[in-house]
Amino acid sequence: MKKSISENYDYVIVGSGFGGSVSALRLSEKGYKVLVIEKGKWWKPSDFPKTNWNLRKWLWIPSLRFFGFFKMTFLKHVGILSGVGVGGGSLVYANTLPRPKDAFFKSGSWKGIADWKSELEPFYREAEKMLGATTNPKLFDADNALKEVATQMGHQKEFEPTDVAVFFGEPEITVPDPFFNGKGPERSGCTHCGACMTGCRYNAKNTLDKNYLYLAMNLGAEVVAEHIVTDVRPDGAGNGSDGYVVSFKKMTGLFSKSKTVKAKGVVMAGGVLGTIRLLLDMKTKGLPNLSHKTGDDIRTNNESLILVHSRQKEKKFSEGVAIGSIFPPDEDSHVEPVRYGSGSGFFKLMGVPMILGKNGFTRTIKLLGHFIAHPASSFRIYFSKNFAEESVILLFMQHLNSTLQFKKGLFNLGSRVSTGKAPSSFIPRAKELAVRTSQVINGKPYVMTTEVLFGIPTTAHILGGAVIGESSKTGVIDKNHRVFGYENMYVCDGSAISANPGVNPSLTITAMSERAMSLIPEKREQQKK
Ligand SMILES: Cc1cc2nc3c(=O)[nH]c(=O)nc-3n(C[C@H](O)[C@H](O)[C@H](O)COP(=O)(O)OP(=O)(O)OC[C@H]3O[C@@H](n4cnc5c(N)ncnc54)[C@H](O)[C@@H]3O)c2cc1C
Ligand code: SF4
Repeated sequence: MKKSISENYDYVIVGSGFGGSVSALRLSEKGYKVLVIEKGKWWKPSDFPKTNWNLRKWLWIPSLRFFGFFKMTFLKHVGILSGVGVGGGSLVYANTLPRPKDAFFKSGSWKGIADWKSELEPFYREAEKMLGATTNPKLFDADNALKEVATQMGHQKEFEPTDVAVFFGEPEITVPDPFFNGKGPERSGCTHCGACMTGCRYNAKNTLDKNYLYLAMNLGAEVVAEHIVTDVRPDGAGNGSDGYVVSFKKMTGLFSKSKTVKAKGVVMAGGVLGTIRLLLDMKTKGLPNLSHKTGDDIRTNNESLILVHSRQKEKKFSEGVAIGSIFPPDEDSHVEPVRYGSGSGFFKLMGVPMILGKNGFTRTIKLLGHFIAHPASSFRIYFSKNFAEESVILLFMQHLNSTLQFKKGLFNLGSRVSTGKAPSSFIPRAKELAVRTSQVINGKPYVMTTEVLFGIPTTAHILGGAVIGESSKTGVIDKNHRVFGYENMYVCDGSAISANPGVNPSLTITAMSERAMSLIPEKREQQKK
């Protein structure tokens, strides 16, 4: 930690992902003294691993002293993929920035509290500008395969290239800041190498450290990396009106003492896993007034991730940006072809042939039978020389609603079904797309082992847990993201998403955080009060 860190701030921001970075910039612009505390590391382009076989650099497993930027968390009802580091999920994400359909703005716990579509419209535009959303200019083999599937299903008109947060200048040519009238960092053009999810080594991906956070730091915001916030409690008055004491400690040291800073306000932005863990912990300690809804209304995008391994040697499915295209196979669903860069093959170890069946027992028996009946085609994937070049990963997402509740467990969060059915990995439409894609690329579909054995789906889009409500009976925060029961405490991250967007959520998290921060007065005005 920098020696110069002071003891008092206007705002402490917990976490440096989408919500945290937006908050850091907008609060700094308003004249506030801001400290961002992030548990992961800083990453320069050259620090990222060449492939995901470099597990120490890629994975975040502190107990093994792996301090990478990609975290996998397995709970009873869902496996969660997330990012850790300065820039949060932007370090690992696939850059795709779709807007949700209308249903999102009219459902969930925030339904009817505002006309969310028109309320958020200017902030979506601002978020797109700040993140540098640009239409992907080039389709490659994986996109063309999906286009063929869309055409077969009569949806060719709706198939489109994605809007992505990437700088498409001359490949590998460095130029002065192309986004913020020279106030941002130098950037280099995208090479379409497909490695966005293992970190962009070409300085082409618009991660948050190259936009919001960079500009915030130029305005004086401080970022302390490799430190985890462990405790937030009111300083003086029990409702936080006298400010807060924030405790944190080093993540990467062997023995680390807890440190504290004081702040007039706190923004919780640790992503669902970080924010909900901290809030549930604090509800039994320093923040007892938190709503009983804390940890409730957690959603996934009802995703299904299917790896289709192809026999078409002439194709190179790893080329392009990580997600280059999208189409809606029906009213409620979206599908995208996802890729890793050449050489990244870790996920083949987690895949087994796609097997359908009512319960884990039947599926396991069927799976064993499948391995015995089709050994060559089933085991081929594990011996593939270049899994990323030979595979298309389908990311299927659906609008339909069901919610989970996270509870404090002994070592990790626990989960239980709150409303509707548990998120399922067996979505008929997703399986249909897998079969069609397999036919188009002469491939075989695989899913994560946890799906077949335990029926647990995997999500990269965990959302909710501190949702917007009319009161603390229906939500954890009000429509301006203020935490019920406390003064000057906000939640600005995926936990505040209050309905199922049905598409990748980072643009929405950014837009909602932009709106929340726009409602905080400038420091000068605040002081006059
Ligand atoms: C492989 C992958 C691909 C994805 N692709 C896309 C995509 O293409 N488009 C899209 O929209 N979304 C995508 N996502 C999802 C996206 O990354 C997340 O939805 C988004 O990052 C969530 O933003 P957030 O603000 O909630 O927090 P995050 O971005 O998750 O950031 C939270 C940060 O807080 C830190 N933190 C947590 N707890 C603490 C604590 N107690 N103290 C200090 N720091 C803490 C974490 O280390 C993390 O850096 C993808 C996700 C993954 C894993
Ligand atoms: S495709 Fe390659 S160069 Fe382009 S943004 Fe992704 S990682 Fe960077």
